[in-house]
Amino acid sequence: MGASVPDHFEEMWRAIEPIGRADRSGGYFRQPFAAAERELDGWFVEQASARGLRLETDPFGNRIAWWDSGPSLPGVVTGSHLDSVLDGGAYDGPLGVVTALAAVEVLRERGFRPARPIGVSAFVEEEGSRFGLACLGSRLATGATTWEQARGLRDRDGVQLEEAMAAVGLEVENPQPWLGSEHLACFVELHVEQGRDLVDRGAAIGVASRIWPHGRYRFDISGEPNHAGTTRMEDRHDPMLTYAMTALAANKQARVAGQRATFGRVDTLPNSTNSVPSGVTAWMDARCESDEALAELVGTITRQAEERADRDGTRLAVTAESVSGAVDFDPDLARRVAEDHEAGDWPILPTQAGHDAGILSAQGIPSAMLFVRNPTGVSHSPAEHAEMPDCLAGVDALAETLQRLAS
Ligand SMILES: [Zn+2]
Repeated sequence: MGASVPDHFEEMWRAIEPIGRADRSGGYFRQPFAAAERELDGWFVEQASARGLRLETDPFGNRIAWWDSGPSLPGVVTGSHLDSVLDGGAYDGPLGVVTALAAVEVLRERGFRPARPIGVSAFVEEEGSRFGLACLGSRLATGATTWEQARGLRDRDGVQLEEAMAAVGLEVENPQPWLGSEHLACFVELHVEQGRDLVDRGAAIGVASRIWPHGRYRFDISGEPNHAGTTRMEDRHDPMLTYAMTALAANKQARVAGQRATFGRVDTLPNSTNSVPSGVTAWMDARCESDEALAELVGTITRQAEERADRDGTRLAVTAESVSGAVDFDPDLARRVAEDHEAGDWPILPTQAGHDAGILSAQGIPSAMLFVRNPTGVSHSPAEHAEMPDCLAGVDALAETLQRLAS
């Protein structure tokens, strides 16, 4: 047992609630290797220590707190992430970490003796909100992305990943991927649902079947800078118009195809009210039910943007910054998690959001996800929410799942 009495779910939740929360919006700014996220990381270390868990930290800053019990076999690991999108919600990420710590405590109180180690994980930069590549920590740990590819990534202030990590003491020569199926028997990530499927089904807990393929695409549009007053309307080469039509086309094409496309970030140069801009850079997030549908949707939007650029006399370049294929979670594992509960089976449903569990699954580690009902479905927003009874149902569901998988 640990040095002190470990906190239960509600105490842990209250302790982390103020960290990184903006007064103005009530949303969270927990960007990786910056103050609030580091405070959460320190909190995680304290919680691991209070429980007497063995802390493993990899060169990238990912953590696993191990409950070593029984023989040293590949472990059953559960957890999520502590970072947030810009102005994000409280639940996306931390709910999976806090329920994991609480579930371990539930199992210990019950006197459960696992047949293999159980680990609680926290992966860094899951959202890609600072360096632009989602699931960066799990990608580096598994080798899905190499250190050589990632070290030079820059944040909005021009700080390189390597520099940001060194600034918080993560300075390792030539770090190597290490996370594979020889370490992990399986991975389970509990997450707040980012939609309303569970509300519609009247269920507090669900299990993931698959993650839709998704990608981030940068649209660089250049035009001719000029005076906003003296330049005749017909003489302009305005990249803002090309962008505006592209955003409308993305919305329309996604609706028509039953898929998702979003422009959520735009930069314009020189960003001046009385100038026709010289350039617009905009980022599109697109998600579809299949890899083919994603390629088709992005292709259609790009073609329409090119046609509009021709008419506007602007130039367009589209770059796929990251594309993740569809992930089908291990169906046997999903059934093992979802079936034969007292209150019936938990529903199994797909998700349109990427997760570390998807990265681990794609790297050959059997993975599963539990979802906790979100009454509005709103996520990546200060309004993201889960009711406390549902969070506590999540703790019980996760404890039961760990018991099944580690027996
Ligand atoms: Zn998340």
